[in-house]
Amino acid sequence: MTYISLKSNLEHPKFDLTVAHLYGDLMNTYGDNGNILMLKYVGEKLGCEMTFEIVSLGDRFDKERYDLVFWGGGQDYEQEIIADGSLSALTEPLKSYIEADKPLLAICGGYQMLGQYYVNASGHKIAGTGILGHYTENLRTDRFIGDIETHNDEFGETYYGFENHSGITYLSEDEKPLGRVVYGGGNNPDDDTEGLIYKNTFGTYFHGPILSRNSRLAYRLVTTALRQKYGQSILLPSFEEILSDEEKGQNITDIKRKSEK
Ligand code: GLN
Repeated sequence: MTYISLKSNLEHPKFDLTVAHLYGDLMNTYGDNGNILMLKYVGEKLGCEMTFEIVSLGDRFDKERYDLVFWGGGQDYEQEIIADGSLSALTEPLKSYIEADKPLLAICGGYQMLGQYYVNASGHKIAGTGILGHYTENLRTDRFIGDIETHNDEFGETYYGFENHSGITYLSEDEKPLGRVVYGGGNNPDDDTEGLIYKNTFGTYFHGPILSRNSRLAYRLVTTALRQKYGQSILLPSFEEILSDEEKGQNITDIKRKSEK
């Protein structure tokens, strides 16, 4: 299902990207849909026509069709519906998409479902896709709720957000954390990790929505998608160029919409 109202309408787009919003009709808590708006905003700044489609229960995930994937958070109830529904059909094509270095961002419940399993607040073990190695146990009588700050030493980036989860996640050997916790809960009470990175797949407990508060991450996702599709050598404005342009109130790619002619 395409988000008609979100389709870009640029006059002279240089690129185009199609984004899959996995279970977008079921998993979209705490403003996660703002991440979609941010991907659209950054994509258009880079001269890219953005199309968004919900891929949900009963749909086939076509790994060739999508250039970027977003999977939002959800309550235990929705996670159970998804686990009982089409999750097993998603596993193979989504795994090949991830292994092909294509970019994906998964938040909270989506992040949990990418892994082996999620034990919910009632102690019920819900199967994940099993694509990635992390697994999620549960705090049961408690939740990690509140503001959180993390730092990614490799990227030299600080991330700010809000977390609300009872699941506690442990990473596998081949996964790196997205950040080191400065304050807040993060993945679990036992190490200071938050989120995950595997190839170009990012998982995180940050709501907020994460991308509007951490625009370098949005830039990273969209430029990764563009480089995977059009080649590593394409010329794109840097993050700083976009930012300085924003400050001047101009638009670097001189975006005009067809209707503005
Ligand atoms: N239901 C999951 C948990 O409580 C995920 C919550 C969420 O996506 N915010 O851990």
